[in-house]
Amino acid sequence: MDWEEAKLHADQVRKLGIQQLLDIWKRYRGNERDVLLWGDEIEYLVVSYDEKNKNARLSLRQEEILEALGRLEREQKETIAKRKAEDPNYQSEVPPKFHPEFGRFMLESTPGAPYGGNWSSLLTVESNMKLRRRLAKQHLGEHEAPITMTSFPRLGAEGIFTDPYFPATGSKSRSQYLPDELINLHIRFPTLAANIRSRRGAKVAINMPVFYDVNTPRPFRDPTVDYDRHLYPEDDDVRRGAVKEGHIYMDAMGFGMGCCCLQITFQAKNMSEARTLYDQLAPLGPIMLALTAATPIFKGFLADVDVRWNVISGAVDDRTEEERGLKPLKNSRYKIPKSRYASISTYLSEDPRLRPEYNDPNLVVNEDIKKELLDNGMDERLATHFAHLFIRDPLVIFKETLESSPEGLSDHFENIQSTNWQHMRFKPPPPGDSIGWRVEFRSMEIQLTDFENAAYAIFIVLLTRAILSYGLNFYIPIDKVDENMHTAHAREAIRTKKFWFRKDIFPPLHQHAHFSTSTTPSPTPILPPPLPVEDEYTLFTINEIINGIPPNPKSNPPTPGFIGLIPLIEAYLNTVNIDVETRCELSDYLDLVGKRASGELMTGARWIREFVRGHTEYMGDSRVGVGVNYDLVKAVEKLGMGRGGEVTGSEKLLGKWKGRK
Ligand code: ADP
Ligand code: MG
Ligand code: MG
Ligand code: MG
Ligand code: MG
Ligand code: MG
Repeated sequence: MDWEEAKLHADQVRKLGIQQLLDIWKRYRGNERDVLLWGDEIEYLVVSYDEKNKNARLSLRQEEILEALGRLEREQKETIAKRKAEDPNYQSEVPPKFHPEFGRFMLESTPGAPYGGNWSSLLTVESNMKLRRRLAKQHLGEHEAPITMTSFPRLGAEGIFTDPYFPATGSKSRSQYLPDELINLHIRFPTLAANIRSRRGAKVAINMPVFYDVNTPRPFRDPTVDYDRHLYPEDDDVRRGAVKEGHIYMDAMGFGMGCCCLQITFQAKNMSEARTLYDQLAPLGPIMLALTAATPIFKGFLADVDVRWNVISGAVDDRTEEERGLKPLKNSRYKIPKSRYASISTYLSEDPRLRPEYNDPNLVVNEDIKKELLDNGMDERLATHFAHLFIRDPLVIFKETLESSPEGLSDHFENIQSTNWQHMRFKPPPPGDSIGWRVEFRSMEIQLTDFENAAYAIFIVLLTRAILSYGLNFYIPIDKVDENMHTAHAREAIRTKKFWFRKDIFPPLHQHAHFSTSTTPSPTPILPPPLPVEDEYTLFTINEIINGIPPNPKSNPPTPGFIGLIPLIEAYLNTVNIDVETRCELSDYLDLVGKRASGELMTGARWIREFVRGHTEYMGDSRVGVGVNYDLVKAVEKLGMGRGGEVTGSEKLLGKWKGRK
């Protein structure tokens, strides 16, 4: 349905979605048997080299590539089944999975089956990621390669950046820069782009600050904007002030949803544990965004930010002017402070340590839906969470789904849930499956190499174990998480910025024994008199958060220091039964994270920026030209394929080259 039709069915979809949610919640809220399972998602850009013109472009062969990869997966599964029939003891890994993504130049891969809780499986994470990259590579042409860059540096730049070439026209996006042909061909994706634009009443407008280099014109006015195009009514956007001075202007969903992320999903043992993890990981979102920073270039210009987040946020911002608070409410229902793609707006655990002051008293919720959830027995916090997600309209509706029975399905619920692209996602069990309550950690930037991707994935997994085992408390007011998200964008945030973080993350000693993540009722913990909320947190550097601050007994007053997340994980690992070899290998990953935090190693963003600025063809004018882009993409491909030894300066990114293959 296009937007004009879809909007007439929005309430119906929300109603069906809530019905499906309630069915799922009633059926699975008592799940207790679930175990830790987790898995990563890696997204790739497929590049295509034009060697004659020394140009690196995006390959638009997603369907063919996925078809070939799907065939391979089926063949492998058949072979495994056959072997198993012959020999019941035959053991084999499940072949990895590849998925489509918004960009027709993107691939996503996940492990064939989620990882379990045994330590040694952590050591297979990197090799599994590498296998997936190799498999992808094997199904590409000679001139093509998968790379793990968050954003293609010359996406939307002047000249040719797709293979095959298409001029920047198309009625779905109506972009000045991106042809509709680079959107995944499945009808869902172009419809999503068109409906976001229609609902908003204009094209999305993304303005990222330019990085002023020595020869960048001041003030910078994006020279690639065409103020004279008269193809679509939306061409008026730029004549009505959509472009901000000093900024790189982008006008289409593809700029954001064409970005690659690293996501991690955890299954909890029950709903309550999932809710705890959701809340406790939320304050870490912006910290990990800054730590994984890898996006210094947009549309062929160096930007004054290091991360992708706000680009995606702006790229799917379907809010009307009324919802954005630019006009008084008349046709829209709510004033909504954030895009659908944003940091979370409410905590949802029943943990007694979740003080009401941490949540936003002005949170926008759909009151009718909240009432319905409460009337059905859902508790206040969970009902608030879903009633908040359900302030949004469904963006893409398939007519057929309204004509069939919603029972036993989750499609209408997922319609709203999965287009709330928040930095954490609380995932209820899919109906009819054996999958439990899950939480997804979504803020991290994809890294150039699988060594780094594995390191960050493993870091987060270990942190969740420490959180649950020690009952750690990372709560800070939710608006401080928002502020941190903003701070995380700053160029070199790791070296120059401070982030709000909780000072005392340990539960009070006498509470320790009581703290339990199981749903069996435990005695109400005796809480010490609470500090004023403002005294619970302060500003830290990323280095202090990750590596710790030594206590200073000599200062006046003596300062207690801060343990740091890596020392905390180390302490946790000391308490579990883990063999020396595994422990050593895990240290390699923790080392990388620690050195990124301390600045000893560069983030991907810094490395890429320095690569550009050090390139002989770069003119110091913020422009990343075809030649620079070609060399950068080639270097990034080598890094990703485990050939970093051939790339000058790779040790600044990865540390002493360990001959990782
Ligand atoms: P989405 O795109 O909706 O976030 P994907 O299916 O692409 O989901 O990825 C989900 C990730 O969760 C995969 O890495 C997968 O291995 C992992 N996973 C699958 N089943 C479970 C489970 N029961 N518990 C935890 N993680 C799971
Ligand atoms: Mg996925
Ligand atoms: Mg996605
Ligand atoms: Mg997905
Ligand atoms: Mg994805
Ligand atoms: Mg995901």
